[in-house]
Amino acid sequence: MSRIRSLPPELVNQIAAGEVIERPASVVKELVENSLDAGARRIEIDIEQGGARLIRIRDDGGGIDAEDLPLAVAAHATSKIASFDDLERVGTLGFRGEALPSIASVSRFALTSRARGTEAAWRIEVDGGRPRAPAPAQHPQGTNVEVRDLFYNLPARRKFLRAERTEFGHIDELVKSIALARAPVELRLSHNGKPVRLLHAARTEGDETRRISDVLGEEFLANSLRIEHEAAGLRLRGWVGLPTASRSQADQQYFHVNGRLVRDRLVAHAVRQAYADVLYHGRHPSFVLFLELDPALVDVNVHPAKHEVRFREGRLVHDFLYRTLDDALGGARAGSAANLPG
Ligand code: ADP
Ligand code: MG
Repeated sequence: MSRIRSLPPELVNQIAAGEVIERPASVVKELVENSLDAGARRIEIDIEQGGARLIRIRDDGGGIDAEDLPLAVAAHATSKIASFDDLERVGTLGFRGEALPSIASVSRFALTSRARGTEAAWRIEVDGGRPRAPAPAQHPQGTNVEVRDLFYNLPARRKFLRAERTEFGHIDELVKSIALARAPVELRLSHNGKPVRLLHAARTEGDETRRISDVLGEEFLANSLRIEHEAAGLRLRGWVGLPTASRSQADQQYFHVNGRLVRDRLVAHAVRQAYADVLYHGRHPSFVLFLELDPALVDVNVHPAKHEVRFREGRLVHDFLYRTLDDALGGARAGSAANLPG
């Protein structure tokens, strides 16, 4: 048997990257979430070759202090939580301090930032996990992250990247889901130098509705009901598709918990149940829903990629969702029964 040894940090980060960074869209998710956590009002996302060649995210958020740059790319270093108590009530999208070091360990990485209230920008480069010393740079307030040649040093992973169009499709889908939840933030997405999406910042509630139709189309809004309901510390708002506008695929379903897009079996079950007697077998509803509750009642530290959550009071959440949706669909049900064929 060999002796036990501690692994070098680059390797530790590459192992973590295996869990967090599945494909270019995962990089975009982590970087855009960082921009949102930094209070950005404007985020620009430039992609080349489906993200395999370049992923660049620029924001106008609070930036990073020069002396913090080496920490930003170090594992388990974060400005977002400091104690177990904080972990119990996470209010930001990030908190693990793992994304930047993971991404930087499997790419040619550079981060340039100018912190709010400072005059100088700084840039740190990391090549395959090895950081260089920060150097002075030019940049307005905010942060610019460039990720080139993702997985260049992990040939087995690089081979798994799909066609450029497929990878970009995943990125676009992710940007859409974020855009739905963050109407007040301007988002721009380009691919190979061509603008793909330009979403203006919403300033009023009417603008928020426009954001939904900018992302999902007029068609979606015209065929859905607006809902808003609050009870027992839970608040649900959003749009639920009419049964008559059901789809053959579950490709328009967005459920956000405290601003985080999640896939959750309990939620899926509550929704399915609410639609049970208005949808035919094999048909899927469309919806954009935002659930808000006390962060202490939802555990976000379930999976490294943070797609999953665990509700402390699952039953309560399930029943609240089911009742709210069932009530909303009640009217539609009465009205549409006549339209159901045979
Ligand atoms: P986490 O988001 O879990 O804290 P990350 O590795 O994603 O971990 O980021 C590490 C730290 O770098 C963050 O806690 C934050 O302080 C800083 N940071 C990363 N991206 C940005 C950004 N776009 N703007 C400002 N600060 C950032
Ligand atoms: Mg992060």
